[in-house]
Amino acid sequence: MTDTVLDTNTIIASPVCRFCGTLLQRTFVDLGMSPLCESFLNADQLNGMEPFYPLHTYVCEKCFLVQLEEYVSPEEIFTEYAYFSSYADSWLEHVRNYTDLMIDRFGLGGHSSVVELASNDGYLLQYFVKKGIPVLGVEPAANVAKVAVERGIPTLVEFFGSQCARRLVEEGAGADLIIGNNVLAQVPDLNDFVEGIKIFLKPTGTVTIEFPHLSRLVEQNQFDTIYHEHFSYFSFFSAEKIFASHGLRLFDVDELPTHGGSIRIYACHQDDDTKSEGGNVKRLKEFEKEEGVTSLAYYESFGSQVKETKRKILSFLIDVKQKGQTIAGYGAPGKGNTLLNYCGIRTDFLDYVVDRNPYKHGKYTPGTHIPIYHPDKMRETRPDYVMILPWNLKNEVMGQLSYIRSWGGKFIVPIPEVTIYS
Ligand SMILES: [Zn+2]
Repeated sequence: MTDTVLDTNTIIASPVCRFCGTLLQRTFVDLGMSPLCESFLNADQLNGMEPFYPLHTYVCEKCFLVQLEEYVSPEEIFTEYAYFSSYADSWLEHVRNYTDLMIDRFGLGGHSSVVELASNDGYLLQYFVKKGIPVLGVEPAANVAKVAVERGIPTLVEFFGSQCARRLVEEGAGADLIIGNNVLAQVPDLNDFVEGIKIFLKPTGTVTIEFPHLSRLVEQNQFDTIYHEHFSYFSFFSAEKIFASHGLRLFDVDELPTHGGSIRIYACHQDDDTKSEGGNVKRLKEFEKEEGVTSLAYYESFGSQVKETKRKILSFLIDVKQKGQTIAGYGAPGKGNTLLNYCGIRTDFLDYVVDRNPYKHGKYTPGTHIPIYHPDKMRETRPDYVMILPWNLKNEVMGQLSYIRSWGGKFIVPIPEVTIYS
């Protein structure tokens, strides 16, 4: 993604837009240097060197795609992945509803073919299989793909793109429904990925793609959803441009509460006259335009908003520590690590964090070196405050940890702005 540009006296390296190739010169937000958010450390690694990469996001002044350079290859991140989608109950409920909706709306049945890109452990496709609908998963992480195959979900272990799509079409395959949930942001070669969708989609087939909505990120200060695994951040506006350039038309959109506010776009071939545009498309486009997604000022003001959010979080934490009170953290997700590193929150503020995932117990958070324990640690140490890092699950977490109230413990939710729940 790096291009060398001659700048009168000096030669500088500047990134270019992964969609339209324009030189990226406008900053969306610069979160400084940060380690990879899933690189948890063992005790014997704490004195070693740790790789940090820039977390500097740009906005393209031509197409308004918000993006991060590809500092780390997807092969490094996604070929052995620790995240299994089936672990989250609320997520399973979400995709089961989705399955019923698609079967009804598009009349899917035994004659259809449903394909999911980044199909993880088959968490979603299992519901189509139960209804007797033929499926195929494409998943680059071999360890999670293996779980899917054991469940009876045919899964190709590879990265999806135009080459993969061409090969499948030559073998006689094609898709009536192509699904991509939270994968578009993680694709470095965006054009090749969308071109692959175009090639693989049957003439009257449908594509649905879900991703966190940029408008929510900006409006709710969700800067901590920016991390190295997420290369792009989309508005409906930028997504529509990208799909259109590959001959795909967005004919509908749903707004969803998942991941702090997502959208699900529906695409078909440009010339597919079996699908007319839904009213949601016009409404969302008008909403985005009013917000300012087609003006640079909208993007360039985000950086100062983020700095203000950081100052407010730190002021609150300093105040609590001045009073001699204790704080623990809940959850060690990717977004937590961006927040901790950017704000410089270490064991000087948080004594420890707890997480339900046993894989993380006994480890330390990347960069900030906060120890991670089993949630039972809370009962032992009775902290005055518990800071909830996965704020999108705050109601679920406050329910699970309601017992901290028995000793007067309170919850801190840092995003969109510091809020205390007692
Ligand atoms: Zn661009």
